[in-house]
Order: sequence, then structure tokens, then C-alpha cells
Amino acid sequence: MSESLDPITVPDRTVEGFVQEFLRELHFGQGVDMSRASTNDKYLALARTVRHHLMSRWMQTLRHQGQVQAKSVAYLSAEFLLGRQLDNALLAADIDGIVTEGLTSLGIDLDDLRQAEQEPGLGNGGLGRLAACFIDSLATLSVPSIGYGIRYEYGIFRQTFVDGWQVEQPDTWLELGSPWEFPHPEAAVKVNFGGSTETYIDDDGNARSRWLPGWSVIGVPYNYMVPGYRNGRVNTLRLWSARAEKSFDLQIFNSGDYADAVRAQTFAENISKVLYPEDSTPQGKELRLQQQYFFVACSLADFLDNVLPGDFDLTKLPDRIVFQLNDTHPVIAIPELMRLLVDDRGWSWEDAWAVTQQVFAYTCHTLLPEALEVWSVDLLGRLLPRHLEIIYRINDEFLAQVRKAYPDDELRVRRMSIIAEFPERAVRMAFLATVAGAKVNGVAELHSQLLRDKVLNDFSAYFPDKFTNVTNGVTPRRFVRMSNPALSGLITEAIGEGWVTDLGRLRELEPLADDAEFRRRFAEIKRGNKTRLVDLLAARDGIEISPDAMLDVMVKRLHEYKRQMLKLLHVITLYDRVTSGELPIDQVTPRTFAFGAKAAPGYKMAKQIIGLINAVGRTINTDPALERRLRVAFPANYNVTLAETLVPAADLSEQISLAGKEASGTGNMKFALNGALTIGTDDGANVEIRQLVGDDHFFLFGLTEPEVADIVDAGYRPSTYYAANPTLRRALDHIAHGTFSGGDQRVFEPVVSNLLHEDRFLVLADFQSYIDAQDRVEKAYADQDGWTRSAVLNVARSGFFSSDRSIKDYLDRIWHAEPVAPPFV
Ligand SMILES: *Cc1c(COP(=O)(O)O)cnc(C)c1O
Repeated sequence: MSESLDPITVPDRTVEGFVQEFLRELHFGQGVDMSRASTNDKYLALARTVRHHLMSRWMQTLRHQGQVQAKSVAYLSAEFLLGRQLDNALLAADIDGIVTEGLTSLGIDLDDLRQAEQEPGLGNGGLGRLAACFIDSLATLSVPSIGYGIRYEYGIFRQTFVDGWQVEQPDTWLELGSPWEFPHPEAAVKVNFGGSTETYIDDDGNARSRWLPGWSVIGVPYNYMVPGYRNGRVNTLRLWSARAEKSFDLQIFNSGDYADAVRAQTFAENISKVLYPEDSTPQGKELRLQQQYFFVACSLADFLDNVLPGDFDLTKLPDRIVFQLNDTHPVIAIPELMRLLVDDRGWSWEDAWAVTQQVFAYTCHTLLPEALEVWSVDLLGRLLPRHLEIIYRINDEFLAQVRKAYPDDELRVRRMSIIAEFPERAVRMAFLATVAGAKVNGVAELHSQLLRDKVLNDFSAYFPDKFTNVTNGVTPRRFVRMSNPALSGLITEAIGEGWVTDLGRLRELEPLADDAEFRRRFAEIKRGNKTRLVDLLAARDGIEISPDAMLDVMVKRLHEYKRQMLKLLHVITLYDRVTSGELPIDQVTPRTFAFGAKAAPGYKMAKQIIGLINAVGRTINTDPALERRLRVAFPANYNVTLAETLVPAADLSEQISLAGKEASGTGNMKFALNGALTIGTDDGANVEIRQLVGDDHFFLFGLTEPEVADIVDAGYRPSTYYAANPTLRRALDHIAHGTFSGGDQRVFEPVVSNLLHEDRFLVLADFQSYIDAQDRVEKAYADQDGWTRSAVLNVARSGFFSSDRSIKDYLDRIWHAEPVAPPFV
């Protein structure tokens, strides 16, 4: 089914046509002319002009989807860390050429307008970025799908440093207006909370339950375009914003109480006000549960009432949709669907459960036990009393079956209960998702295996066919084609442009690793990317680094399990070797240690570590003995936009989490695809990266997961490593003795004593192995041509880590859905 585009709605794809359209937008849209237009005016006019080029495809995609009613995917995620939209839209619409030329003719630099865009920071880190990569791949693969999430008014906080300590500022990404969103207040959905439940006898004499809610808010959908890569398809991301039912009480206002007149509005709108700035640990906050139910209730109602045709037979729902649950955040959708079917539509429990079990699938993203989300029965019962009853019944029926399967194993039954009894009665959301979901997947081979063998072991024994793996991926559009134009040009020149949507084809580069001319050009591009970063850091942060130094990068959320401390101990060790005279400075490879990391505002140890990295940086960057050969660069506010310049410039990628703690990682994939070599543990997707690129092109170190388990079982004592290893001792003593804090021994005492006495993530146990691996890095880097050869092979062998491949795995193993031919090209 192919239709042609309506010529009236398709903009002219010539330079002149673009210029005319841009000037019209400036004039009619912004109400300014060129002589008075601010950069923001020009950016908004440009964004809208670019948007025109995707609009008919969007409308066509929606019309086509309505006609075909093919099986679709609804990706439910509390986070979508999208990054800037302008470049992605230019790339998808394939108009960067005419836009650059047109703007130049008007005396405007496209780059200046790019910088005017505030990235929507609607996610914390990997989990939110994964959701953004997945909707890009779904659109590019032409899968009918929709993303559902929350339009936070304030995204992830903006990080600043004051004396080296993290200070959070609000992320006001909407302040100057977002040209990429389309609000639809007429399609608002009402969401209820609180109140009580009651039983009653229906007209057929059956006892039924219903919810008598206590209060409600309104969810307003904001639509975003999700363009496929030059395939004529534009999917939708629908984010919900909370509004009060009655925003303003004129009676109260007239009585003179102005604050009270808007109280209800403030209360309701709090729900979509802020993104919880947590990563890896859920916060048991009432508002967070409100957020979760809010977006899930809006999304299910929207799908059933608006997306499906009015006469749709809901018993056929499993043929029409699968709801993918991105971690436990949307899991409350399970009892919500049961409620919609049983209470609102009068279905029997059995019929409703049969459908529910087929339409949800659950992705688990963690291995840290403290990160498995639970909601106290007390809170859940207060906020969602009917849902709690439904969860109890799901649990009762499930446990009855478990008892049948294991007649004399009450201990197992208790372990598998969706309701935890200690330390308080609470709903285990991961268990609920596992019981109800048609499939449960981990996000890398090792992670999925540990889920089966450890975290959800009882469940994998009971439901052996439910568990599967889908290794994460990243979109090659944003993270290679857009962010690394020079390398993209070289690749396209060598193997054609098909790789952008078929990343496995990077394999064709392999023979070129042995081509000296190709290596020369590859190295030249890496250097050019470093220069780009040098300029950005100078302008953005006033940080000075050299394009001639090795660029060693660790960027990701600050968490003890990710072990930024291990990296820092290596930096301190080099500092110590030089300042103690053990290592002549002219034998040190010039190296820039780049860090980027936000700490959750309430995570004290993480914030201490940030303070310490900056303190070490200050000392090292100003010590004349080091002759500026070692430098620490820690630009504040690591986000997608910064990643897009940092990753293509990197030589060395630090992926050094304790084995068994990082579910997958996706930063590791971005670096390998851009020709950085990895120094890493056998953790998460590092395992698969190393298997693909080969041991000769990867710096492996550290304990394996089973070794970690043994050491922990035997009773890990970090102080024994300190006592036995003089190198480690000297590094830790520098911190303890105040080398980096002007002699003050108290400032970083908590970091030191934590490492010496607790060290939950075995930093000290892996220290020597890490230092040895860094010495191997140093040697390998001395052979620049050999290093470049390895870098080329990293690119050539990392095509597996495209999110297109991940999505195909989901389609085959979990969703059982298919791409549909795009309506037009
Ligand atoms: C890719 C990405 C992440 C995830 O990084 P990991 O190293 O996998 O933790 C986090 N933040 C941003 C901005 C990213 O682009």
C-alpha cells in the first residue's frame, strides 16, 4: 500500500524554497524580521521549517497505521533521554545540504542555531537513552509503534561545580519554547487516585468490585515526531503532562485568597514537574508512584480509547499490541489493564487475565538488589486501593499454582510471593512483572544469565520459557552518522552508505585495518575530532586540553559500582610515580583523563567522589613537575549533547564496573563504534564487545563475576589489600594526608575509610590488575599505527551493537511483530 504525498503539504526541497519558508516562519511564526531576530527566533523558525519536511510523512504514517491495524509495539518508559532534535530531524529529512546553503546565503551560521537548542533531559542515563535509541530504531525499521512517557517540566538537573563540589540547578529546557512538541489538550485523559473500593451486585446478580476515587488529575498529551532514517516513516512519542481538573477557582479568588485559588493546580501539576534524579536506586516517594500510575493510566486509556478503532474486539488485543515495560517503572500498568477489563468493561477475571498475560513484556535493567523497586502496601493501598486488591488476587492465584508445583516447599512459596513481608509489607514490582509478563529479558548475555541464575532464580525454574536475553544497542544515526561526520564520510567512501541502517556491514572495513593509507586517514579524523573537543571544552567550560594527548574517557552516572574511584586511583598513582621521582616525566605518555558524571543529589558518597576528582584535577593540572603532560578534565553537566563531541574524540574507553554489577552499559558500545579501545572488566556488554573485537584489541582486567562472588562469600577485607600493596597504599595515603585538599585530612576522610573498611564494589581488590592493564595501554599506545589498527578493528567489529539489531531481536523473540512496508518513500 503505497500512496504519494499531497503536493500542497510537501515543502519545496530547493535552497530558494527553504529560504522562503524560513523567512515566512520568522515573519508569521515569530513575528520578527531578519533585522530584529534573536538567535532563539532564528532557531525556532528553523526548527519549524525543518519540521515541515517531516509533517506529511507523519500524517501519512498515522493514516496508514489506522487503516492497516498491524500488530504494534507500545514502549512504556518513565524516561526518554532524547538529546537535541534539530540535527536528527535534518538528517532524517535529508535536507542538511539545502539548509546549510540557505542559511549561509542569509548570513546565518547553522552551528550557532544548533547551540540554541536545549536538549530535553527527560532521563537520567543509560535506561532513558536506551528508550530514545529504541524508538529511533523502531521508526527506522518501519515498525508500527508508539512511545509513551512523561513530559517533565524540569528534566534531569543541570550540574554545576562550586569549588569542585556538585551544585544542582533546575533544567529549564522549556523556558524558551520547544518547537518539537504538539500539545493536544482536547485529547486529555482523566486519572484517578485515592479513595476506596466497594463491592456491589451487578444487574446479572454477580458480585463485583469498583473503585470510588478520592481525587483526580488530567493528563494532556504532547506528541513528538520520531522520524525513521530516510524511509518515509515518522512514528510518535506521546508524553503526558499533568493539569488540574479545575485549574482556577474564581469563587475563592474573589473571596480574596489568591494562593488558595490556584492550590489545586499546583498540587496536580507537581506530578509532571520533575524527573527523579536517581539512577540505579528507586526512591520510595509517593510522588514517584503518582508519576508512574499517571503516565501508565493515560497511556492505556489513550491506546484503548483513541488509538484502537471504536469497534475493536478487545479479546484480540494480543494480536494488535504488546506493551514493553522499560524496567519496573510502568509495571502498575498490569493491574490497571485488569481493572479496565474487569471493572469497567465487565469481563470475567479469567478472561481478563488471559489477555493481560499476553500483552505485557518486561525488561529488567539491574542486578543491584537495592534497585529492585518495591512499594509499601500502605502507600499503594492509599493511592491505588483497587490496584492493590487486584495485585493481591494475582498473587493469591499465582501462589496457589506454585504450591501445586512444589507441594512441600512453603519457603519457596514465600520467596516467590509478589508481596514481601519484611522489613514492611510491600509489593515487589519486578515479581509482578515477571508473573504477568509474557517474556522477561535482561539486557546483555551475562546479565540475563545472572537474572536466571540469581536475581529471579525461582521464577526461571518455574517459568523456564519466559526468560530471554536482548543485548542493548545504540542508534548508529545519532552516535556515528550525526556525531562523527568525518568518520561517517570515510566509512561511506569505503563501503557505501548502507551501513547507517545495516551496521553489520561495518565488517567490510576489516581488510582496511591493514591498509596504511586508510589508517592514516582514520588517525587524522580522530585527531580532528579531538580538536573539535578541545575547542568545545575551551568555549563551554574554560578547560584547556591538548589535541596531542591520549584521550582517556570515563563518562557515565556517578555510582560506586561503576568505580570512578578506580580510575582516580590510577591517576593518583601516575602523579605519585612522577612526583616521587620514580618515573621521569619525559617517559610519561601525555594523557588527558576526561570525566563526566552527575551524582544523584541525595547520594553523599557519589558527591564526595566528584569533589575528590575535581580536587585531584586542580592539583595535577597546576603542578609544574608534571609539565602539563597529565591533565584531568571534568566538564560539568555530562549529557547527550556533550557525549556527541566527547565520544568521537576518545582513544580509550573506561568500562570498569565490578563484574556482575553493570547490567549492560551502552556507553561502552558508543565508544567502540567510534574507534576507542576499551579497558574493561568482564561485565555487562563488555563481555560481548571483547568477544567480537578480540582480546588483542581490548584491555581486560579484574575479577570475574564468580570470583567476586567467592571473595564476598569468604568475607572481603579491603584493608588486607591496602596493607599488602605499596602502590595502592601510597595512592590512598595521598588522599588521606590531604595532598589534594591543602593538607586538610578531614574533607575526604569518608571516601578513604569507606574504601578501607567497606569497599562494597571491590575497588581495592581490582586495583593492581587495573594498574597492570593501564601499563599495557601505555605500551600499546606508544605504537600509534598499531593502536589505530586496533581502533579500526573495533569499529569494524562492533556493528552488532546497533539498536536496530536489538529491536530485531525483540521483534523475533518477544513481540512477534513485524515491520510493515512504509506508506511511501
Ligand atoms: C549512553 C549514555 C549513558 C549511558 O552510559 P553508560 O556508560 O552505559 O552508563 C548515560 N548518559 C548519557 C548522556 C549517555 O549518552
